[in-house]
Amino acid sequence: FNHNHEVKQQAEQFILRKVADYKAFPIVVEKSTSVYDAIVQLFLEDVGTLYAVDSDGYLAGVISRKDLLRTAIGNKDLQELPCSVIMTRMPNIITVTPDETLLEAAKKMITNHIDSLPVVKEINPGNHTYLLVGRITKTTITRAYLEIMEQNSV
Ligand code: ADP
Repeated sequence: FNHNHEVKQQAEQFILRKVADYKAFPIVVEKSTSVYDAIVQLFLEDVGTLYAVDSDGYLAGVISRKDLLRTAIGNKDLQELPCSVIMTRMPNIITVTPDETLLEAAKKMITNHIDSLPVVKEINPGNHTYLLVGRITKTTITRAYLEIMEQNSV
């Protein structure tokens, strides 16, 4: 009985944690950046996903490592090819807002088979104008899970 109560408490804690408190810094490229430079950036920043912004600084696309691998196979002109051609574009980007919970973020990643979510603030509803303020990854969720477990075992 005690054990059940503890598990329930841990689950509740997870539900209460906000994206705002766990989001990481997003690694961003201009959507005109070449695929070659994006690959370099991916290694330099040690991330799995890059976010592309338009010239106004609004979120324009998502570039995953498999997007880059797929493009690199049999493509000679990676220096000439802009990211905008290969990225997943608005309005097809799954986003999360800072006030949403980690549970909601985790569900979005699992349901959509993706590794990360851009954390955004909506500037103009209906116009797909989003300001990028962070990122949430599967690693974020795992870290939060560990933290909750460790706090409960002291
Ligand atoms: P990888 O492709 O390296 O396994 P993901 O599983 O995250 O990484 O990405 C799978 C596909 O989904 C890619 O084509 C990527 O552009 C796209 N994608 C990634 N994150 C998002 C997102 N938040 N919204 C929409 N599409 C996404």
